[in-house]
Amino acid sequence: MSTQLILDSADAVSAALAENEDVIEGLDRAIGDGDHYHNIKRGAETITALREELEDQTPDVALQKIGMKLLSTIGGASGPLIASFFMAMAKTEGSAKMSDQETIARMVSAGVEAIGKRGKSGLGEKTMLDVLIPIAEALTKLSTEGHTNAEIASELKKVAEAGMLSTKNMLATKGRASFLGERAIGHIDPGAMSCKVIIATLCDRVTT
Ligand code: ADP
Ligand code: MG
Repeated sequence: MSTQLILDSADAVSAALAENEDVIEGLDRAIGDGDHYHNIKRGAETITALREELEDQTPDVALQKIGMKLLSTIGGASGPLIASFFMAMAKTEGSAKMSDQETIARMVSAGVEAIGKRGKSGLGEKTMLDVLIPIAEALTKLSTEGHTNAEIASELKKVAEAGMLSTKNMLATKGRASFLGERAIGHIDPGAMSCKVIIATLCDRVTT
């Protein structure tokens, strides 16, 4: 995989987030403070703006620079979490080339693990991890089974959708939504929704 592809994906993600502004912002207004859409959109735009600086770099260097930059540009609780995702991917063996499914699966797993470590969070706490942990697990399994990229992408879209929906009836035990107690039940977590939008966008770009 090339850095060009990462940068092109950031452009597509930025557009997809804009299309889902109302739903993402609405969810954070319901169980957070309403800024999640702006935080995550700023993140995507930050990557987009790095194109000139990064397009000739290998993916590992690009991902590390993206992570560092996101740390200082995305606000909220989600900023450091997303930054740690990129930096952990950059450090994974094989990230300079990202040449096969298993390497990408290892990178994603390392990134998701870094979010859990940084956020002291895991599955079932009504966060972005309820999408990302099942995604990392599914990708790890699927990457060993000899599927085409398009088959894996199609499966991952379903996993992301299910993970996002699973947050609806959870009690939040991390982040701002945890202050609401039972009142958060019935609302989908905004971070889970934005992750689902991002993953669906990335998966839609995989055609072979
Ligand atoms: P803030 O909560 O500071 O306003 P955002 O609105 O940008 O930050 O992000 C909120 C999202 O961040 C939540 O919907 C949730 O998915 C995610 N989140 C918050 N705290 C954690 C955590 N400790 N671990 C994992 N994800 C978290
Ligand atoms: Mg918020």
